[in-house]
Amino acid sequence: MTAPRLEIDLDKIYHNASTLVERLAGCGITVTGVTKATLGSSEIAETLLRTGVSGLGDSRIDNIEAMRHADVSAQMTLIRSPMLSQVDRVVAHADVSFNTELEVIRQLSSAARNANRTHGIVLMVELGDLREGIMPDELENTVREILRFPNIAFKGIGTNLACRSGVSPDAHNMAELSVIADSIESTFGLTVDIVSGGNSANLNWALSGVDTGRINNLRLGEAILLGCEPLHRQPIDGLHTDAITLVAEVIESKVKPSQPWGVIAQTAFGEEAPAADRGHISQSILAIGRQDTDPCGLQSPPGMKILGASSDHLIVDSTSHDQLTAGDEVTFQLNYSALVRSMTSPFVAKVVELPINLLRRSES
Ligand SMILES: *Cc1c(COP(=O)(O)O)cnc(C)c1O
Repeated sequence: MTAPRLEIDLDKIYHNASTLVERLAGCGITVTGVTKATLGSSEIAETLLRTGVSGLGDSRIDNIEAMRHADVSAQMTLIRSPMLSQVDRVVAHADVSFNTELEVIRQLSSAARNANRTHGIVLMVELGDLREGIMPDELENTVREILRFPNIAFKGIGTNLACRSGVSPDAHNMAELSVIADSIESTFGLTVDIVSGGNSANLNWALSGVDTGRINNLRLGEAILLGCEPLHRQPIDGLHTDAITLVAEVIESKVKPSQPWGVIAQTAFGEEAPAADRGHISQSILAIGRQDTDPCGLQSPPGMKILGASSDHLIVDSTSHDQLTAGDEVTFQLNYSALVRSMTSPFVAKVVELPINLLRRSES
């Protein structure tokens, strides 16, 4: 089989997504399935939609367009502020976008008017992580302005934590978002439909049994695809952490010294040369590198250790593992960084394992 390849198990993705949809429904929270790590895969999108997610979210209009062209039928939200150069594409293909700049919303409004469509706006609020968001004390003015724009529907507010600075969602910042939702409602006499509290990093907070207040939506990518929460990278109880795995092929396997010899200067990617002399080791090379994935985000099978990587070579110590020979395949688990890089690398094949229930249906 072709290598390297991502093996995507739709049954496990379905299990992860439906488990989270169900658990969060218990707190009155809907799930937006975030597809940005999947390069607009229509199979993954359709799988998420079968679990009862309220819609799909992606940070790139290209991915949303790919899903539209594949006839994925869902409410689609662009979860990164639109580029001014893309407003026409955004109103044509996304139902809602996350926004922080009045000028962008003004141009979305005129694009929507030209296209004879209504475009939904969720305003992102800065609550401390210092990525996207309007400062809380400027929010009211922004709402006042956008309510005047034609062909724009104010849908609600959201925030994003834990991505840039690692700020954890907690009772305090989530309560602040609830208070803001209430205050917009009383100031403007309208209903804030969407109060989107954050991403996979919000799960610990949401499922801890606290009062979730006005928060009624989370946008989940990593937790669904990798079964992990991103604050401490711990597996989430009851979810699969191997729904997507990366398979690479061995191209060299030798017993070699653990220490290089000769005059040592810089390596191709500035990595340190190995420190401890461990005598001779079983060293294998896999035909995968930085062009295909983030080698630091790979988890090797038990007994195997990743020693280093260059553009096209991943070097592992397999001394405590079964003997490897050229042609053998090795399966790795991935973190989010490795997943995104592999998904977007043209050198990595994507092999989707169809859901068992779909196979059964097509056999009968
Ligand atoms: C990527 C992203 C998400 C999803 O994050 P996960 O950690 O993968 O759940 C949610 N919201 C925004 C704004 C994002 O950029």
